[in-house]
Amino acid sequence: MTDDQAIRSLVMHAIGELAVERIPARPLGPGQVRIAVHAVGYCKSDVLGYLGGNDRRQRAIDDGGPLVMGHEAVGHVVELGPGVEGPAVGTPVVIDPIIACGVCEACRADAGNACLNRRIVGCDAEWPGAYAESLVIPAENAVPFVGVAPLEWGALVEPLSVGAHALNLAGDVADRRVLVLGGGIIGTGVALQAERRGVREVTVSERLAERRALLAGLGLTAVPPDEAGGGYDVVVDCVAVSETLTQAIEALRRRGTLVVVGVAGPTAEIPVMRMVENEQTLRGSFACTKAELAAVVAWVAAGERDLGDLVEAQVGWGRAVAAFERYREPSPPFRTALLPRSD
Ligand SMILES: [Zn+2]
Ligand SMILES: [Zn+2]
Repeated sequence: MTDDQAIRSLVMHAIGELAVERIPARPLGPGQVRIAVHAVGYCKSDVLGYLGGNDRRQRAIDDGGPLVMGHEAVGHVVELGPGVEGPAVGTPVVIDPIIACGVCEACRADAGNACLNRRIVGCDAEWPGAYAESLVIPAENAVPFVGVAPLEWGALVEPLSVGAHALNLAGDVADRRVLVLGGGIIGTGVALQAERRGVREVTVSERLAERRALLAGLGLTAVPPDEAGGGYDVVVDCVAVSETLTQAIEALRRRGTLVVVGVAGPTAEIPVMRMVENEQTLRGSFACTKAELAAVVAWVAAGERDLGDLVEAQVGWGRAVAAFERYREPSPPFRTALLPRSD
């Protein structure tokens, strides 16, 4: 193997064991494209996987060997596999990390995110992710990012789309009052989607003052948890620990809807009696559909909102592992992006 056939990647061997290594570039199969990664966001699920907050990434390693994580990415198409007509080499694209079978019941209902046979780029040893100089994905998972916005913003598309999907699961929210618990990137995606869908009010409950300031800079209303109030038609919990689930059920009106999209841990307690007595609906939300991702790509690329402040830290290979460690701090960065071609 010559050096130019090896690519630098961030390889996770086990919980707490992450290293920058040169590994062989994957051959391109039929229907696949190679993407040179421009920027990839540090997702909370990757951070929790590495820190051991849950065992999702460890289970993937147990099943298939070392893992290259990273599924919130933007880059350029650099090579087309056999039978691929596009996107053309050179096209800037956002990665849609969900690889769906296309034939199961969920896929037939345009809900590939719930595909019974789904694989997820960066969460599966068979589909190495974007903490790498390049990666290989199916051509249909490369979504052109065409517009005036800086290319880095493309790394925000996937988590913002996850927030958009969570809100969309609440049904028609026009003229409704919406509360979002947790003002990270997913919560930001929920709130921005709520605005786009014409809600009467959207409030973000967030305990960190610097995050509330960042959200205020986007024109969103963000308050400390004890000031969030109640009587909401829809609550979206982007944290999903016992404390926030309790806040969610208590802040929800009778017959209101709670959508849970957080991944903090495998179990949590909910005030079930209150939920039952008030006939509230509880719904889980996972990832997003292709249509939702395409819609968010369009408005992010068009530069409709200034999202420049959301990527707080940009790192190259030298600080790639240390940047994960920053998430042990009580006040971690809003979003970190690795730029694999910056050094
Ligand atoms: Zn993510
Ligand atoms: Zn399927």
